[in-house]
Amino acid sequence: MTYVDAVADLVGGTPLVRLHHVTEGIAATVLVKLEYLNPGGSVKDRIAAKMVETAEAEGLLRPGGTIVEPTSGNTGVGLALAAQRKGYRCVFVAPDKVGKEKLDVLRAYGAEVVVTPSAVPPDSPESYYGVSDRLVREIPGAYKPDQFSNPGAPQSHYETTGPEIWADTAGQVTHVVIGVGTGGTITGAGRYLKEVSAGAVQVIGVDPVGSVYSGGTGRPYLVEGVGEDMWPANYDPDLPDAVLAVDDAESFAMTRRLAAEEAMLLGGSSGMAVTAALRVAADLPADAVVVVLAPDSGRGYLGKIYDDRWMLGHGFAPAGDGPSVADVLG
Ligand code: PMP
Repeated sequence: MTYVDAVADLVGGTPLVRLHHVTEGIAATVLVKLEYLNPGGSVKDRIAAKMVETAEAEGLLRPGGTIVEPTSGNTGVGLALAAQRKGYRCVFVAPDKVGKEKLDVLRAYGAEVVVTPSAVPPDSPESYYGVSDRLVREIPGAYKPDQFSNPGAPQSHYETTGPEIWADTAGQVTHVVIGVGTGGTITGAGRYLKEVSAGAVQVIGVDPVGSVYSGGTGRPYLVEGVGEDMWPANYDPDLPDAVLAVDDAESFAMTRRLAAEEAMLLGGSSGMAVTAALRVAADLPADAVVVVLAPDSGRGYLGKIYDDRWMLGHGFAPAGDGPSVADVLG
């Protein structure tokens, strides 16, 4: 019989898939690592599993304990998967601007979600951070992983994401391109690839125009999950060889093209990373192998990036749409 013991055992081992159409005119091989094929649908399943394991080993999380984290998205799903299997309670804190569907996914996995008002100052006890801090203090046996500072987050990528890229390219990877949010993915996977290749693999970070990693001042952007207005502890700024900035319009146009032309239904941070990867690959010879990490699925963005009205309403062209059947039949 071939089976796994539980869904949580399916984390990692995601495939590399070659790009064919958006790479027109590019000689190098560009491979996308599809993280939406993790069981919770994103790269965050990796850090969640590791942070829970480490907390157990260090005695910070004990039987009957509660995981409390301010998250409304992918990290919450990953933590809920890991927690459910081991019988921990999960309490997530989310701001009220987060869509109902995202919160319903967390609740479906058995998590409790506390929604906090956005219209209060950040130092208010009612704020996102105020409420999560109070829950951690007052719930007995509560543990807050904190993905921005938890060393288990980059460590999980050092132990899994990096080695998978090296093994699946048989050591032929020359460039790795990774979007930067908390910085955990690039710091862990990038460090492994630098070490195993004696510095030969070029590590390229990507963030939205306006975010601090590429020299921005924290100006707002719409792509989700990447970019910061502060420097998290889990980001090592000395690691990347370069950090490229990509704007929302390019990120979303590429996200749409990846679905329409490569059959990859991905989130906006994937379109952002692929845009940067193609810029890097454009100047490379045919024997170069560029690996770009695609953090999550497009399912969570159907009402935004994949919705023409939303795109037009935010000043973006719904790129990639050809003529309609009516246009063709005239
Ligand atoms: N894309 C998405 C959709 C994410 O949720 C995240 C995580 N915040 C990232 C990219 C960036 O990964 P990291 O936090 O490891 O830098």
